[in-house]
Amino acid sequence: MRILIAEDEKKIAEFIRRGLKEEGYAADLAHTGPDALNLAAENPYDLLLLDVMLPGLDGIAVCERLRGEGFTAPIMMLTAKDRVEDKVKGLDSGANDYLTKPFAFEELLARVRALLRAKPADPSTRLAAGPIELDLAAHKAILSGKTLELSAKEFALLEYLLRNSGRTVTRTMIAEHVWDINFDTGTNVIDVYINYLRRKLEKGGTRYIHTVRGKGYMLKA
Ligand code: CA
Repeated sequence: MRILIAEDEKKIAEFIRRGLKEEGYAADLAHTGPDALNLAAENPYDLLLLDVMLPGLDGIAVCERLRGEGFTAPIMMLTAKDRVEDKVKGLDSGANDYLTKPFAFEELLARVRALLRAKPADPSTRLAAGPIELDLAAHKAILSGKTLELSAKEFALLEYLLRNSGRTVTRTMIAEHVWDINFDTGTNVIDVYINYLRRKLEKGGTRYIHTVRGKGYMLKA
């Protein structure tokens, strides 16, 4: 899952980005309102964390603009203010949730998870295909009832494959949703991670991650 963080306080932005990356999310930073609009137009984000007090264009205006342009990913507003009217304004402008600074990182993560699973197509905290299961709330991968030890990035990759189970996902799609903007598409990192996952998932000899020649990969179980 790829997240855009629009926050002008560099320390807070960096803190959030690092924390999200440790959880396996891909995260990009925007430091002004116009930057946020540009990045959101260029990249398929799954979620936007949007500070209200941003230079150039404030978070409320960014949110209104994006919703007007058909941006459908969930938006969570971040702000130092806790005045009721700001919360109302944020939600009325098209935000899905609101978090007041300072916040505990654990709460931010829980809300991010809730927003990502609130997508209508996917109301559950569990993703499954055949014997493969992901418990998104507990961040746990299970294969045939047994816990599977995965790195944060392997987990993120498997989550993306499971969300698209039975469909071909191209390397570009994987790069866009699992890696961040600094990702060098010239590398074979995706294939390397696919191989890591295969080694862990397919020890029993059953193939789950299929190569679709010339296109990408498909998880089928
Ligand atoms: Ca700010």
